[in-house]
Amino acid sequence: MPLGFRKNLRESRNAATEQRAVATGGATDRSVVLGEVEELGIGMFWATDAEGNLSFLSSRALADLGAGAEELIGKPLVRVFNDIEEEVGAPTQRSLAFKLKARSKLDEQIVAVTDARESTRWWRLNGRPLLDAEGNFRGYRGSAVDISAQYAYETQVARQSQVDELTGLANRRKLGERLTAMLAAFRVSRRSCALMMLDLDRFKQVNDTMGHPAGDELLKQVAQRLLSIVKDAGEVGRLGGDEFQVLLPDMDDRGTLGELANRIVQSISQPYQINGRRAIIGTSVGIAIAPYDGLEADELTRSADMALYSAKETRGGTFCFFTSELRDAASKTAMLGDRLRDAVDKDELKLAYQPLVDPVTNEVKCFEALLRWHDEEAGDISPAQFIPVAENDDLIIRIGEAALRRACMDALAWPDTIRVAVNVSAKQFIRPGYRKAVAAALAASGLPPQRLELEITESVFVGDLETVDAIFRDLKKLGVRLALDDFGTGYSSLGYLKHGHFNKIKIDQSFVRGCTENGDINPAIITAIVALAKALGMETVAEGVEAMDELALVEERGADLVQGYIYSKPITQEQVLAQFADGSGVFRPSGPPRHRAERITIFRKVGLIHEDHYYDVILRNLSKTGARITGLAGVPVGTDVVLDLGHGQLVVSKVANATENSQGLKFETPLISDGSGGFMTRHRISPYSLAEAGIPLAALGAGAFPLAKWREANKTVPKFVQLELSVPNA
Ligand code: C2E
Ligand code: MG
Ligand code: MG
Repeated sequence: MPLGFRKNLRESRNAATEQRAVATGGATDRSVVLGEVEELGIGMFWATDAEGNLSFLSSRALADLGAGAEELIGKPLVRVFNDIEEEVGAPTQRSLAFKLKARSKLDEQIVAVTDARESTRWWRLNGRPLLDAEGNFRGYRGSAVDISAQYAYETQVARQSQVDELTGLANRRKLGERLTAMLAAFRVSRRSCALMMLDLDRFKQVNDTMGHPAGDELLKQVAQRLLSIVKDAGEVGRLGGDEFQVLLPDMDDRGTLGELANRIVQSISQPYQINGRRAIIGTSVGIAIAPYDGLEADELTRSADMALYSAKETRGGTFCFFTSELRDAASKTAMLGDRLRDAVDKDELKLAYQPLVDPVTNEVKCFEALLRWHDEEAGDISPAQFIPVAENDDLIIRIGEAALRRACMDALAWPDTIRVAVNVSAKQFIRPGYRKAVAAALAASGLPPQRLELEITESVFVGDLETVDAIFRDLKKLGVRLALDDFGTGYSSLGYLKHGHFNKIKIDQSFVRGCTENGDINPAIITAIVALAKALGMETVAEGVEAMDELALVEERGADLVQGYIYSKPITQEQVLAQFADGSGVFRPSGPPRHRAERITIFRKVGLIHEDHYYDVILRNLSKTGARITGLAGVPVGTDVVLDLGHGQLVVSKVANATENSQGLKFETPLISDGSGGFMTRHRISPYSLAEAGIPLAALGAGAFPLAKWREANKTVPKFVQLELSVPNA
């Protein structure tokens, strides 16, 4: 429902307040007064019992609903009064069921009721829970005003309108029409068009803690930021709630799109000033491109939605391109939730410990506790994958508290100079019971508080910062230490460092990995963070150090501690104890001398085109600039080939080195990052060119590129020996 509409509907509410004053007023017979109030058309009255069933409807209300309305008495209120469907631009109203369950006051709740003639009427409800002298809940008492005429009119106006009233951006309706028209026209002229779907991270928290007006103000500022980034490259719109959309005609360069998405994410994550208070949110972005990821508006929208979902799942504050693998991944995640709950019940989650080592003496100072989950079917599942799933419900609280208790117990068996660091999810951190859980874990184990360190990410600094501040103060009072994890990846506002909450900053892996490469600006960033931390009296940790040259660099730049594979991967409690058995607690660095360009180990069947022949090969690893393949014999160094990574991603390559049955390929143009740790090509071959080769466009589903058809049509004599491949077609 548009905002102005809510406002208009509210204007007639004073009548209801007056009526309450009258109803509770003097010694006059109440029922007479109520009758008169009803007669004046000011209001109607209703009540429920403690179970939420309708126990009373005043005569006017019964009349309004027509014959048979008495039958409604005894029915659950939520079956008689239905939630309205929220329209574009609405500051969402909580469902009636939610409010009744929470026993909260009903304040101008708009509901739909069906009258005897089966037509819908709209009522605006006010009501409050009634408690008896002992404080027991006795049901609701409330009033109602029929607002049907006004509601129908306002809704119609809203439907006809093309702009979102709150932000002035295009609304859902207009965006839908534009997209449909654009795709139809572009198909004829063979142009491409990208669709970005945005969903704000933690907007709900701001709305809940700072109030709806603050939420509205925030949305306006988000709209302004989006407009200033997109400019005239495309059209920005608001779909409703905290969802935005950007339509970008003639865009299919995934490099450019990724950069744009990145700028959007960065900009939206900067702090907001709202009525003198600060709020921080983030955004996730899903990207789909027509005609590759969908030809029609609904198909393209579904693809972008799926990409958005994946971006949110990854960790929020990031973007993701649609790939057809996403479709399968979505159903996997749904299953993960059930299995995870099961694993928690059976106590199957374990902790591993990774040392944080002083790079000067190689002595361990602290161990970080990291959750490990081995699922029989799926194998090892990373916490980066299952923590977000747990965060979707209260499972995170159980997981988090169990990890905290276990870690405190385990640490007690270590030398008493060694600390233990435990990760805390933002959702767990802001829960009221968190301080208590920490105190209980300390008490149960007997671990001195100063040996416990809590690792918190920047994502806690959202919503109401005053509440967050209070939690920090409480925890400090307990005597535990606090570390800011993954510094530099989130909102990167220095503001909250100055409050002095943190004892330690952990410089994120992304600044460390590859920092020794020429022209990298990360060493400068590391230096700056270390200097800042020193000035504020905080310790620094360099995370994710893998190579000797990285270790040398972070030590030289003054990082107090180093955590990474260079010293040790996460180990079991038994291994930790063995480490101390000889009294040393020293870890020796070992690893490659230099950082190597990021290579992802893969085991996937892909295609290789040489001259006119198409081969099947196995991709063993992939980096931005090259790949290693197996499955062909006798391919000489220097051969020009085209690697087919699927979905229209063709990479022009040269064989740079070769053994009998494995080849290293060097790419003519480097791949680009896909935003979530993988690589992809900047461009794809267009379905339009496939159509030219005789494949009907309509036959191409989202992300489908039947190159196989092309290869059948081009049966030529192979130059190289195709070896037997033992990988199922992935
Ligand atoms: P984090 O807190 O930033 O933990 C560091 C991650 O980096 C760990 O991944 C660790 O195994 C990995 N790592 C350490 N050194 C290196 C290195 O040299 N190279 C590479 N490539 N990786 C390295 P892990 O165990 O997969 O955990 C991922 C994330 O899951 C953690 O990031 C943390 O945010 C979360 N997590 C883990 N355990 C818990 C937990 O008990 N509670 C909560 N809320 N989150 C947890
Ligand atoms: Mg951590
Ligand atoms: Mg970290």
